[in-house]
Amino acid sequence: MKEAITEVSGNNLFSGKVFVISNSYNKYTNPTYTKVEILIKSNGGIVSKKISAKADYYVQSYEMDDDSKLELVKSLKISVIGHDYVEHCVQSGSKVNFKHYALSGKNKDNLDLVPLIQKEDLFPKILDYSREEEEQPQTFYDFIEMERYSPDEQKKYIYVAKLDVNGDVNVNILMKFISAYFSLPTKQYNNQVKVTPNKRRNKMCKIQIGDFVYDINTRKPVCKNTVTRINAMDVLDMLVEVIPKDAFCIVAITDQDIYEFDDDSSILMGRATGDRVCVVSTCRFDLVNSKVEFNNFLKTLAHEICHVFGIDHCIFFSCVMNAIVGDENVEPMWLCPVDLSKLRKSVGFEIQHRYRNLITLFKEFSMTDEVSWIEKILNELDVNKTS
Ligand SMILES: [Zn+2]
Ligand SMILES: [Zn+2]
Repeated sequence: MKEAITEVSGNNLFSGKVFVISNSYNKYTNPTYTKVEILIKSNGGIVSKKISAKADYYVQSYEMDDDSKLELVKSLKISVIGHDYVEHCVQSGSKVNFKHYALSGKNKDNLDLVPLIQKEDLFPKILDYSREEEEQPQTFYDFIEMERYSPDEQKKYIYVAKLDVNGDVNVNILMKFISAYFSLPTKQYNNQVKVTPNKRRNKMCKIQIGDFVYDINTRKPVCKNTVTRINAMDVLDMLVEVIPKDAFCIVAITDQDIYEFDDDSSILMGRATGDRVCVVSTCRFDLVNSKVEFNNFLKTLAHEICHVFGIDHCIFFSCVMNAIVGDENVEPMWLCPVDLSKLRKSVGFEIQHRYRNLITLFKEFSMTDEVSWIEKILNELDVNKTS
């Protein structure tokens, strides 16, 4: 192998670094595999076939969302990168900071946000706790190249549908939050929505929207204070059918427990799809008596709606888009610079304007930690503007 390296070039950019290239390149996109392999070797790196603790990087593109090796890669703390990152480093002649690349590497996008990635007090490192087994970094470029919906003048409303049985979820407060967080207008989905759980547990639940009645599969609830556990995917299928013409998306909020898979051990607090729909459950959050739980619910809500925009789980920072969010009080309410840049791209807001709206709202909610965080970032953005 050493001979091959010296044979191609004397560049030491990746000197001593061990790369494992995902098998999926081998099988489906051989030219990419070969190209990346040559780039790595010709710049002093080592390409290993075996995933081991010696490896520094695992090369796996965002488009290949099915890779059984990612769990092992994560457990060995190997960084997952895309082939385009390797190419970019070679082109720029340096090992570019991966967060910087994810935000602003290829072109000159998002330069205003670049200074923020250094601010560890505002955007700390991701916690191990908040990671999932299979994780692939979604860069800004992965985001803009993927197929996804964005709001526009004709379809700009975020509709909120109340799917609660007890009727005590205060959607007005939640709509205010959604509107400020996403810089889009909200409307309550006010067709007559009626949720009737079957009294015999484990049987279909009926949801009536206008003249239509949908049968939704249910299971026995695991969460206390709920009468049923409704199938989130059935709800999403139903929402796709009733989405209003002027809606960018529709968010269903239920006070009942929800599930995706037929087992009682997995807890689900929200589920979204790229079809402009999502559902979140309030059943694990006391929104009236606990500030912490109210705060955690807002994180869950923001997280699921971000998924609707096509924003994937985040591995770059401690961020509201971390895979695990809302069940402990550890993740922030906020989007990291990389994910903020994606939301800005989709909605087209001005960042300071969005934060100013949020600060007004959080003052109203008396959420002092959030207020002081936004004050800090507004200050930081001002500093960057004038410097
Ligand atoms: Zn998620
Ligand atoms: Zn993030």
